[in-house]
Amino acid sequence: MGLLSLGTPLDWHESKQYNEHVRENGIIQLINIFKQHGSRQNDVFYWGDEVEYMLVDMDDASKTAKLSIDKDYILSDLNDPEKPKSYQKCVANNISFHPEYGRYMIEATPLRPYHGDRIRDYLSVEENMARRRLVSQSELPSHIKPLTLTAFPRMGCPEFTSPATKPIGPASQSLFLPDEIINRHVRFPTLTANIRKRRGSKVAINLPIYPDRNTKLLDDSIPRDRDLFPSDREPSLGAARPGHVYMDSMGFGMGSSCLQVTVQAKDIDEARFLYDSLAAWTPILLALSAAAPVFKGYLVNQDVRWNVISGAVDDRTFLERDVDPYPGYDLVGGLDVPEEVRDHMRLLGGVRGVNGDRVINKNGDTKVYTNQGRPLQKIPKSRYDSIDNYLGDTTYSKKKPYFKDEYNDINSPINKKVYDQLVNTPYFDDKLATHFAHLFIRDPLVIFSERLDQDNELSNDHFENLQSTNWQTLRFKPPALYPKDLSEEALAETPGWRVEFRPLEIQLSDFENAAYSVFITLLSRVILKYSPDFYIPISKIDENMATAHKVDAVLKDKFWFKSFDSWNLDLSEFVGYDLSWFDRFINHGNDDLAADEVYVKGYSERAVRRFSNDFEPAYETCQGFNESKVPIRELINGNSSFPGILRIIIKYIATDLLSAETNHHCSTKELALKMLRLQSYLRLISYRASGKIPTTAHWLREQVLKHPEYKRDSKISSRINYDIIKESTRVSQLEPDILEEFFGSTISEYLMGTGAKEYDMANGVAH
Ligand code: ADP
Ligand code: MG
Ligand code: MG
Ligand code: MG
Repeated sequence: MGLLSLGTPLDWHESKQYNEHVRENGIIQLINIFKQHGSRQNDVFYWGDEVEYMLVDMDDASKTAKLSIDKDYILSDLNDPEKPKSYQKCVANNISFHPEYGRYMIEATPLRPYHGDRIRDYLSVEENMARRRLVSQSELPSHIKPLTLTAFPRMGCPEFTSPATKPIGPASQSLFLPDEIINRHVRFPTLTANIRKRRGSKVAINLPIYPDRNTKLLDDSIPRDRDLFPSDREPSLGAARPGHVYMDSMGFGMGSSCLQVTVQAKDIDEARFLYDSLAAWTPILLALSAAAPVFKGYLVNQDVRWNVISGAVDDRTFLERDVDPYPGYDLVGGLDVPEEVRDHMRLLGGVRGVNGDRVINKNGDTKVYTNQGRPLQKIPKSRYDSIDNYLGDTTYSKKKPYFKDEYNDINSPINKKVYDQLVNTPYFDDKLATHFAHLFIRDPLVIFSERLDQDNELSNDHFENLQSTNWQTLRFKPPALYPKDLSEEALAETPGWRVEFRPLEIQLSDFENAAYSVFITLLSRVILKYSPDFYIPISKIDENMATAHKVDAVLKDKFWFKSFDSWNLDLSEFVGYDLSWFDRFINHGNDDLAADEVYVKGYSERAVRRFSNDFEPAYETCQGFNESKVPIRELINGNSSFPGILRIIIKYIATDLLSAETNHHCSTKELALKMLRLQSYLRLISYRASGKIPTTAHWLREQVLKHPEYKRDSKISSRINYDIIKESTRVSQLEPDILEEFFGSTISEYLMGTGAKEYDMANGVAH
């Protein structure tokens, strides 16, 4: 969750005068980072995951499940070297806990990242995740469970917290969420309030209610008569849309949980290619990991959290969003504009103006500036959204770059001053400068008075202030600034150029979260190994983001992707590397074939050279960019003429990840068990893609629809909430009798057999 400075955070109305100061110094810090690290090379491919947990108070007597908001002390204990018992458990288990937005939330990561060349590291992630659960549980009473739920179903409903609270807090002014759910660190309530103040109204998220037989398409949970804050009337002024669940606070989004994976490239050029190549995968993986069909006690007509979190921190003013303000509200929100501009805007009334003259011209700007000289302009996306620009691969593959300028085809405003400053240094080409100049159209949201003046040669807090509050599907993470006298060896151990993959929804079990983390990491490895061309226009990725929200999108929809014959790979190289490759490898099943053939080529030359799927795709193609609309099942599993990404990954495992001595035969039982686990991770992805097994969202929706107390009215009662969370905990714990409906027979047999016991915590959790 970015940096947590200590000190006094400034209220928006005070902090906004320093916005330009933070940007100006942040850019100097960025330039210094490039100066120090631009030519940094040969970093190891390290990687790591981040898992976010909700602490849930399960009361089996009253059959209620509530968010536990008074157990956040465990975080301080687990991070406090003065509390050796708790802290040592983290160090001994290679785990690390971090604060998150919600007081009921914790985030946990490996303490040291994993190594991308080591098979054993791909297998230790699940064990590491299991240790995080065990260690956090060991600090908690047994009825408080650290659960990996993407969205808490009854968040914002009456009595959803333990202990009970009332939604009357001044930070969020929410009609539903009390301020007591927000992390106690002053940064978080300030962030919440400052987003509201900058925007000039509360955030407003509207999700379509799932239309069931008895559903009233009306959110009747909105209190109509509260008179505590002026913002209380916003729902009736147009903030709440008919037929939608209305949510009015940062916590609905930032209080949800996700899974993130960070990988390190060997240098900046490789990191740029990786960033670009992962972009097209972001909506695909959002759909494949869908896990959020319920919000604020309603079944909704979508499957994921993304637009909720995007809306939850959307600090853009009415003008920036290009919408008319609510009656009596200012177009320019809480921006620091000259009074006469504010009055003028007020007179004009709306973005279209009184005479229909548009306040915003067709380029999206107004020719009006804030007191700090920042232009008032239309900003198409929230600061939490999909990426806007590719970074370009011209520096990576100098000979034959794939990137074309036309791929950056959406309106993505930039901070011109920042752009000019960056391109005037030797470190930034047009694409890199555009990327950062786009991030720097935003205002800093929280400024600490003690941190206004920083040493720009040593500190990167001002840069990080903006960088880490641009919450996009991918994050391009530069190294930090380090003291100049750091030895070369010490420098090599510091984080280098990294890419973070951020769209994944969190899954119920460590097994699944490990599977998705391993999949993203291996996908990154094959991108770097085989250099496939995944570029499609950014607008197509955005279209896919919208598609990924739909109910069961993974099965029912098609997504734009680079046409399979344009990946610039020799597809025949991947014949034979389907999931059964693992069985042949483990069982020495092809010993009768000529030496090496099995393991190097997947199958003997004599085997039929085709991919074993029996459906022909009907493509919808688009002129010019070689992209088509494809079902996710084909992208992952292949079709008769295309291997699918899994075969490419499996070939990589066979030929690269396995060391030369082991890649002909599976030499030990230990390795066999590891390979079986890897196979089951990929099988999970494969089966979710083909619909053999449900997504978490599909399964959760089913739990509601079949619940005896469900009245086909799209509402989740307190009892339904408890029961679906109870079932979810059974999945988390891989309880045998629930496995088959969730994972299907093959994976559940694996999990009940050797699989579940293989990463035995034989020595328990280290104490
Ligand atoms: P943030 O919240 O800013 O994304 P975190 O520190 O919470 O960052 O998580 C970053 C992830 O990156 C963790 O899983 C961590 O193990 C991993 N990581 C740490 N150092 C490196 C590195 N050098 N290369 C790749 N991943 C790293
Ligand atoms: Mg986090
Ligand atoms: Mg983190
Ligand atoms: Mg992160």
